[in-house]
Amino acid sequence: MKLSSGYPFWLIKDGLPFNYSKLEESIQTDVVILGGGISGALVAFYLISAGVNCVVVDARTIGLGSTCASTSLLQYEIDTPLCKLKSMVGLKNAIRSYQLCAESIYTIESIAKKLNYKEFNLKDSLYYAAFKKDISFLKEEFAIRKQSGFEVSYLDQKEIMSEFNIAVPGAILSQCGGEINAYSFTHALHQYGIKEGLKVYDRTPVKKIQHNKNGIILNSENGNTIKAKKLVYATGYESINFIKEKIVDLHSTYATVTEQANNKTEFWKDNAIIWNTANPYLYMRTTTDKRIIVGGRDEVFFNSEKRDKLIDKKRNLLVSDFNRVFPDIEFKPEFSWTGTFGATMDGLPYIGEYQSLPNSYFSLGFGGNGITFSLIAAQIITDLITGKKNKDAEIFSFKRYNFKRH
Ligand SMILES: Cc1cc2nc3c(=O)[nH]c(=O)nc-3n(C[C@H](O)[C@H](O)[C@H](O)COP(=O)(O)OP(=O)(O)OC[C@H]3O[C@@H](n4cnc5c(N)ncnc54)[C@H](O)[C@@H]3O)c2cc1C
Repeated sequence: MKLSSGYPFWLIKDGLPFNYSKLEESIQTDVVILGGGISGALVAFYLISAGVNCVVVDARTIGLGSTCASTSLLQYEIDTPLCKLKSMVGLKNAIRSYQLCAESIYTIESIAKKLNYKEFNLKDSLYYAAFKKDISFLKEEFAIRKQSGFEVSYLDQKEIMSEFNIAVPGAILSQCGGEINAYSFTHALHQYGIKEGLKVYDRTPVKKIQHNKNGIILNSENGNTIKAKKLVYATGYESINFIKEKIVDLHSTYATVTEQANNKTEFWKDNAIIWNTANPYLYMRTTTDKRIIVGGRDEVFFNSEKRDKLIDKKRNLLVSDFNRVFPDIEFKPEFSWTGTFGATMDGLPYIGEYQSLPNSYFSLGFGGNGITFSLIAAQIITDLITGKKNKDAEIFSFKRYNFKRH
């Protein structure tokens, strides 16, 4: 699958910062993690920290799956609003999902500190009504978040104008959000892991996987085998190759980033992360090197040829979307890109065991919260592998829906 095209900004900025080896011999380990993007890197970090022997193997050069294309906003706010999620999964699980995403932002902060990683920042998050008609929904969403203990305030038209200089009818301002560079963070996690005994192999496609009662055997394209007791699938959107049921709809999404600003460090109040109620939603953030990223304009197909032809057109649309919100900020796009994106029925990820494939666990952080979901997945999977109970595992398990067959 061609997961991204164009010029994903982080890949341009950071290039290929580290080399990893190809697997050129047959090996044995306790846990093999298939996929070395942000999901695989976080699982590896947790497993290594728990003292579990593990190996990461990836078909691509590390980070060159969806991870390098990520705009890397960290949100506790799931694609499905809390007031809607409660009727899909029940109020308790809905609130817990939001809480777990919020906690994971602070956990990522503490991991970043431990790794001496600098491209993480806590941010406020502004969720604004794209249209007047969205105000009643926004107020309902505000009320349920407030009741559920999240630190939110409601801003009316006047308040948003005076605080953010944006002419929109209403917004929820949350004191919980963050931003990172998922690509460089993935490398930082792997580099830490390698020092602690992790083995990371890239450019090693796995062509065959045998799930036995007592373990797993992976066969690489170049004829080597990896024997392990357990397997973690951190294979991103390509996981549809391993799961019979249709658990995700794959779409295409677009992003563009400005040139670097010379002197400006604050583009709008606190450089909060901003997104809106439109469908598909528009979102924006700033970067530590003084740029603005805008993303959205999703399409409901994922055919990469069709998707890639639209990059220029989508860039122009994103620029005008941005300028409608901030007419006084010059947006000069420098790099634009597109990528595959996945949405589940309830906006929640699929994490944990999948009955038909014994001795394996999936970390499938689909949706706009891919990164925070990957963190939650790393914690749950590590607990399951090390035999600890995890009270949140059920919320994201494969059992939560009766699957529809393809
Ligand atoms: C444009 C864009 C913007 C986004 N913005 C955000 C955002 O703001 N915030 C957010 O949280 N999320 C965002 N996401 C989603 C986020 O990027 C993804 O959730 C995340 O990158 C997925 O990481 P991953 O490690 O699961 O997958 P990947 O990075 O795709 O890694 C999976 C790896 O598995 C490997 N693999 C698959 N099959 C095999 C095999 N058979 N053998 C060997 N290796 C294999 C692949 O080579 C790949 O490298 C965005 C995504 C896109 C495209």
